[in-house]
Amino acid sequence: MSLNLFIIGPSGCGKSTQAKLIAEKYNLTHISTGQLLRDEIAAGTGFGLEAKAYIDQGKLVPDDLVFDVLVAKLKTIDYQNFIIDGFPRLLNQGKIVEYYLKKQSKPFSLLIHLTVTFEEITARRAKMGVEFQDKDRSDNTPEAIASRQQFYDDGIISIRDYFESKGTFFEVDGNRPVEPIFEDIVTQIEKIK
Ligand code: AMP
Repeated sequence: MSLNLFIIGPSGCGKSTQAKLIAEKYNLTHISTGQLLRDEIAAGTGFGLEAKAYIDQGKLVPDDLVFDVLVAKLKTIDYQNFIIDGFPRLLNQGKIVEYYLKKQSKPFSLLIHLTVTFEEITARRAKMGVEFQDKDRSDNTPEAIASRQQFYDDGIISIRDYFESKGTFFEVDGNRPVEPIFEDIVTQIEKIK
C-alpha cells in the first residue's frame, strides 16, 4: 500500500528537516508547497507573480493557486508515496486533498503535527543568527514571521479536531533535538504501515 504523509507545524519548527529524513527513510517524494510556490516565483510564471505578494507578507496563498501547483506535482507521481511539507494550512485544504486522494483510490495515511512553542522558535532563530537564515527567502522579515505564526494559530485547531476524529493525526513534541523527534515519527509510521 502507498504511504502518503503530510507534515505541518509553525514556521521555523523544523518540519522540512523531518520531512527530508522521512522521505529518505521511506523512499518518498518530498514536496513542500512553499518550495513549489517559490519555484514558480523563480521561474517568473503567472502563478509565481500572483503568489509572491502573499508569501512576502507571510499570508496564505489562495487555495486555487496552491492546488494548481500541488496537483500538477502529485499527478507526476501518481498521487502516492509522498510527504507534503507545509500542507494543509487550513482545514479546507485538508478536506480537498482527502477528496483528491479518494478519487484516485489512494489513502490519506497520516498528518504529522510538529508542535513547537513560539518561545522555542524565537530562541532557535536568535541562536542561528540572521546571517545563517535562508537567504533565498524574501519572507524572513519580523512582520512576515509574525503573520505566519498567526495564520498557523488560526488554522491548527480545526485541522487537529477534524483529522483526530478520522484517526489520521499524530502530534509530536518538536521542542527537542532532531533525532528523538524523528524516532517518534518513525515509530508511528511503522504502526500504520
Ligand atoms: P513555507 O515554505 O512552508 O514556510 O511556506 C512559505 C509561504 O508559502 C507561506 O508563508 C505561504 O505564503 C505560502 N504557502 C506554503 N504552503 C501553503 C499552503 N498550504 N497554503 C497557502 N499558502 C502556502
